Parts: sequence; C-alpha cells; structure tokens
Amino acid sequence: MEPRVNINSRQMFLQINNINNMSVGSDFVSSPQAQRQSRTSSASNGSKQRSSATDRESATVTYYRSANVWYEDGNIMLVAQKIAFKVHRSFLGKHSSVFLGMIETASKQRSSGKGLLLDDCPTVAVKDDPKELAIFLNMLYDPGNDPYFRMPHKPAPIEWVSALVKLGEQYQVQHILDEALNRLICICPYTFAEYKLMRATTYTYIKDYPRGGMAITIINLARSQNLPTLLPFAFYLCCQLPVDQVLHGVNRDDGTVEKLSSDEIVRCLNGKEELVKKNVLLMQSLHSYRPNKERHRKSECSRLAMSTIAHHSACCSDIMGYDFSAWERCVCRECRTAHEKIANGAREKVFSMLADIFFLMKV
Ligand SMILES: [Zn+2]
Repeated sequence: MEPRVNINSRQMFLQINNINNMSVGSDFVSSPQAQRQSRTSSASNGSKQRSSATDRESATVTYYRSANVWYEDGNIMLVAQKIAFKVHRSFLGKHSSVFLGMIETASKQRSSGKGLLLDDCPTVAVKDDPKELAIFLNMLYDPGNDPYFRMPHKPAPIEWVSALVKLGEQYQVQHILDEALNRLICICPYTFAEYKLMRATTYTYIKDYPRGGMAITIINLARSQNLPTLLPFAFYLCCQLPVDQVLHGVNRDDGTVEKLSSDEIVRCLNGKEELVKKNVLLMQSLHSYRPNKERHRKSECSRLAMSTIAHHSACCSDIMGYDFSAWERCVCRECRTAHEKIANGAREKVFSMLADIFFLMKV
C-alpha cells in the first residue's frame, strides 16, 4: 500500500539534503540516514506511543530535493523515486507535449482538491530513474553548459547517452534524442560502409569505447527502445568482452549491475562461436596466399604473416579487430595489399551476416 501524505496540513517532509555524489549521471543520493533519523524521532517516546508513531510514520513520506535541478521560482514538481525536481510548467510544456499533458492533469487535480502539493507546487509522479531524469532535465534547461552536447569529439559516458535516448524518446524531445542516438549509431554501424567510416574517424563518441561492458548497456537499450539496427554490431562488441562479463554483467558506478537476459547470453555465446569459425576460415585464406615472387621484396613477409595468422586463429572472434597498418614497415606492399583485400572481403561478408549470426530479426 502506498504511503499517504497529509496534504491538508501541508506538512510535507521535503527534506533538503545537500547531496554530493557527483559521478556522472548522479547528482544526488537518497539518504537512508535521513530516513532513519526521521523514523527514530517518530518512535522515540516509549512503547505506549509506538502505535501512534507507527501511524504517523505510515502517514508521511520523505522527499529529497534534487541538488542540480531545483529552481526556486519553479511551479511544478516532478517526483521520481522520492527525489523532487522543482521546474517550470511552461518551459517543460513548451518542449514536450508529453510533459504538457502530465502537467495539465496534475494542475486539474489540484484545482479539484486532489493530488499532492509539494513546496506549494502541484506534483507529477514519474517512473523514471532520478539520475537519468536529472541528466535529461539539465540537458533540456541548459544544453550550452552540457559538456557533451553537440561535441561529438568529446566522448560521453554511456550512462549519459542511455539516459538521453530513453527520456528523449519518452518525452518526445527530438533534438535530445537525436543527439544521443547519433553517438550510438556512430559506434554501432549497420552496414560495412558505415563500419569503414567509423574505423576511419578518430572520434570515439562514447567514453571507454569499446570497453567497460558498454555493449551490454547498448543491447539492453536497443531492446527497450526498439532500436534493432544497433543490435548486430552491439552483439559483435559483446562477443569481445570477457566471458564473465557476458555471463554476470558489469558493475556501474551507482552500484547497480547491467546484465544481459539469459536469452541474450545464449545468443551472444552462440554467435561468438560462429564468429570464431568465420575467423579461422579467413586465416586459412590468408595462409593459402602465395606472393608474386617478382614483386615480393621482403624475406620477412611470410614469417610475419604466419605469426599474425597464428595469433588471430586462436579462438579469436574479432574478425574486424586487427588491421594491417602494423605491417607497413616490415611486409612488402604486394603482400600487405593482398592480405588486406582478402580480409576485407571476408569482413564485408561477415558484416552482412551479423544479424543471422546472432539470430536477430532483419531490419
Ligand atoms: Zn611480400
């Protein structure tokens, strides 16, 4: 049963915590200590009063003020998991028809004496993660001060991208959705041409790419937001993660674990096995290459080529991952070009098969 709030007396427990956890995406911490203190004071007057204290406890709810999204002249309160964001109804309504509808409903409820009033503002309860909502609202209010907005050369944390894709879509704020989606599209190409473009650019778009288990976040995001074109390459990236990350997920800064569903784990591991086979076939093709003796100028060519092939044959699923630029100084142009051509042909073919390899729906 939902705790009730005594709106008649307006004694809202809007506890103001100046909150300091500033890892990306987290501009507040809910404070269990404050909640404990509140409960302790309610129940400190002996056993006779315990039942009335318990009544009071069940009749009140503690809210925490967002540290970063709180405008004193705001006139509507968004509440996500007990975190309150004091914002402006006209501003939100201007940018989002979804917000407009929610705000109008909350205002009507207040006019008829229903609904919750916090700090004299009508309240809209949302189901969003408060950390993500803070990222989104900050971007909406003040994109100029956002360190990543319209700066694709500055790699953004995956949590930032994920929050903006989810809430940009949910509240239908297109420019925010486009900004975040663009980064995902750039690192999860759907065609081989897009892939080559990505390899040619020096931008990384997302921090720590492709490490940090972000492929797991991208897969989950693509599933929840219906973004199927991201999936084939996201699964390819996932295959390059250590198996324990694929199985158990990755720890995020906020203490949560981002993990794949068991179906997605199976999909990933089956696909990985298939990629290893494709890679072995490619290595066999490279191994069978015989240089043109007249133009073949370096005696080291065969030895280096063999060494590379041996290295990348051993259970390697990263058929896209190595390049031949390291050969530039020690392998003749003839051999290098020939190997590159064979590899790129195989990669293009594998790329076009990624959706099948991972048993994904064709888009
Ligand atoms: Zn050669």
